[in-house]
Amino acid sequence: MIAFVMLLLVPLLFISCDKDEKNLTTYKMNLEYNDVEHTLTGKENVVYYNNSQNMFEKLYFHLYPNAFREGAKNKIVSQSHENEAFPNGNSYGNIEIDSVLCGNEKINYTIEGEDCNILAVKLVEELYPNECVALDIEFKVQLANINHRFGYGENTINFGNFYPIACMYEENVGFAKSLYHSNGDPFYSDVANYDVQIAFDSKFEIASTGELILSEKEENSTKNHYKSSNVRDFCFILSSKFNVVQGEVDGIAINYYGYKDDGNLSQCLSTCIDAVKTFNDMIGKYPYSQLSIVKSNFVYGGMEYPNVVLISDKIESQSEYNYVIVHEIAHQWWYGVVGNDEYNHAWIDEGLAEYSTLLFYEKNENYGENYENMINSATQSYKLFEEVYKKINGSVDGSMDRAINKFATEPEYTQCTYTKGVLMFDSVRELIGKNKFEKAMQKMYKEYKYKIITPEGLMAVFEKYGSGAEKVIKSYVEGKVIII
Ligand SMILES: [Zn+2]
Repeated sequence: MIAFVMLLLVPLLFISCDKDEKNLTTYKMNLEYNDVEHTLTGKENVVYYNNSQNMFEKLYFHLYPNAFREGAKNKIVSQSHENEAFPNGNSYGNIEIDSVLCGNEKINYTIEGEDCNILAVKLVEELYPNECVALDIEFKVQLANINHRFGYGENTINFGNFYPIACMYEENVGFAKSLYHSNGDPFYSDVANYDVQIAFDSKFEIASTGELILSEKEENSTKNHYKSSNVRDFCFILSSKFNVVQGEVDGIAINYYGYKDDGNLSQCLSTCIDAVKTFNDMIGKYPYSQLSIVKSNFVYGGMEYPNVVLISDKIESQSEYNYVIVHEIAHQWWYGVVGNDEYNHAWIDEGLAEYSTLLFYEKNENYGENYENMINSATQSYKLFEEVYKKINGSVDGSMDRAINKFATEPEYTQCTYTKGVLMFDSVRELIGKNKFEKAMQKMYKEYKYKIITPEGLMAVFEKYGSGAEKVIKSYVEGKVIII
């Protein structure tokens, strides 16, 4: 009987997987937000392609919302940010998986990982290289009252990392199932195609990944339909306080979402436009049709998602706000288009985004910042960090290429990835010259578009443009350079 069922199932399961030329996994989601309960119900159809050389019996998906549940192993934010993150006291969120189907058949799944952070799905049939399988996952998400990427606050409702997303598979390593950590962005995902419908209360405006295909607005409920290709994730933000201003640069729609009564909307929009223009010219063209820059209740400075960035509404000075806008927009190039393992090699996207921010200010003198001054202040900041840590601990670990959970504190993480990243790329530019440095960035963008760059890959690109670049990068990354 089982064998008979399997024989029938195999053609059914694989026939629906029309192979598109790039073999991208596709997520189709139907989402509905309940603003009273702060819950989201989701039906997710994943057509997963096995682009590896190996056969899979199981597939794995991250369940990031479970990091927000009561009793989770790792804290959501570092202790120093707790009060700001939870203005109304402790609050919890989670994700429940209601069912997983393959075709019409319910299939076995388990919630596993180090801390209920992984959905493991046992496939009905082995999945061989270049084959795909379609799964239907029903889930329900509970949002916490937290000023974070995933959570609701006083001003916005943020849906980052909210749905089951396939774990990256690496040849000879396996599926990357790293547990959430409060340091940095503990994420790592492949580019995919998205087709997402979101229903929400009509009192809200929405910012989202992708292109809006259709919006059906009724008195109480709005349903929007988005499509996006070649993106690493899907994020959306709701608010009844948004005031949206729109511009355009190089054919790309730029949407800035401020709040009603904000007096700086046009100023913020022009910073967004200047940043996209600068990076288009300096690195290579942003390949999507829109970018939304969204003010939101977010405990840190900002956060990047494909086609969407969050900027914290806690930032008071316009110059700091502009800085965060530029940094987060730079991530569209470094993280978004050129991907990397943000969990194990955070210095790649953070270092490149932060250094690209300095280059933005060098090219846009009207913002009143000076490149040399910024390098000097990064140097001073890093030196101070080393001095303080040496005093406290007797020694300091200045190595950059560590998993984010291997940095003892948040300052250690930020100094070793952002600040030291800036100093490292400045040293590389000193060595190979401004022109070749930009050529190397352009080459990296072209060669790794929609792919994953590793530390070795990054070093090899810069070495091509200037002998010795690899050695410089290595010595920084290994923590051997003495900052003076
Ligand atoms: Zn960043």
